[in-house]
Amino acid sequence: MINLEGKRALVTGGSRGIGKAIVLKLCALGCNVVFTYASNEEAALLTENESGNKAKGIKADAGSFEDAKTSFDFAISHLGGLDILVNNAGITRDNLIMRMNEEEFDSVITANLKSVFNYSKLAVSPMMSQRKGSIINITSVVGITGNAGQSNYAASKAGVAGFTKSLAKEVASRNITVNAIAPGFISTDMTGKLKENQKEVLMSLIPLKKFGEPEYIADAVAFLASDSAKYITGQILSVDGGMTM
Ligand code: NAP
Repeated sequence: MINLEGKRALVTGGSRGIGKAIVLKLCALGCNVVFTYASNEEAALLTENESGNKAKGIKADAGSFEDAKTSFDFAISHLGGLDILVNNAGITRDNLIMRMNEEEFDSVITANLKSVFNYSKLAVSPMMSQRKGSIINITSVVGITGNAGQSNYAASKAGVAGFTKSLAKEVASRNITVNAIAPGFISTDMTGKLKENQKEVLMSLIPLKKFGEPEYIADAVAFLASDSAKYITGQILSVDGGMTM
């Protein structure tokens, strides 16, 4: 049984989907949690309520270093420190490269990859001082396999994988672990935008023959944040029903 009693966690993009499941799971296992969100205050308040008000949301654009710093400082003062950082915030702006404009490329790289730099840079200082911490980044199966129409998203997620391994090497001597989880197809608002024929194609690629639930990713986060994973770092854990085996 995983026990995270008293641990302090910050989750980016924790108001909906996978991030919300991570927030609720960490709270259920005894953590105190601060989460960020981009704009949907109603969803954030609902997540706070569903956590029994153990989690506190703050609006902050994860891709902006200034917003990241403000929300990070809030988390440190609200929680009294930080043990677990989950870099989950992410977006898609799909298009074929012939039609993709610069803004579609840049916005996805900023929200998905620069955000991981922003919060990781802020988190390593207190984690180094306390000689303990775990950073968990949410990448994607698409960062491993690529996907037509998602060159911006695939680049951002492959970047997160490389960032994860590099940072893991930088901070391992301070007892900080850095890992990533690569979800496959998980049922959330993000994948809800896909057309039925796209979902059928995806289903045909999943050996376990079902789409994933946000809780499956939250379970993997809880494991990587726990002492059971203390000797695991620099890894990309696929949680994808076998899509990438
Ligand atoms: P989602 O349902 O669209 O939820 C996204 C969450 O991130 C929301 O809480 C949103 O806040 C927040 N967010 C978006 N941009 C942000 C920003 N710039 N700053 C702060 N928060 C931001 O997405 P999801 O499906 O749960 O995906 C979560 C993560 O898993 C993403 O990194 C995604 O790439 C990754 N992933 C998802 C799947 C999948 O199948 N769903 C597969 C592989 C990887 P608001 O509510 O305010 O908009």
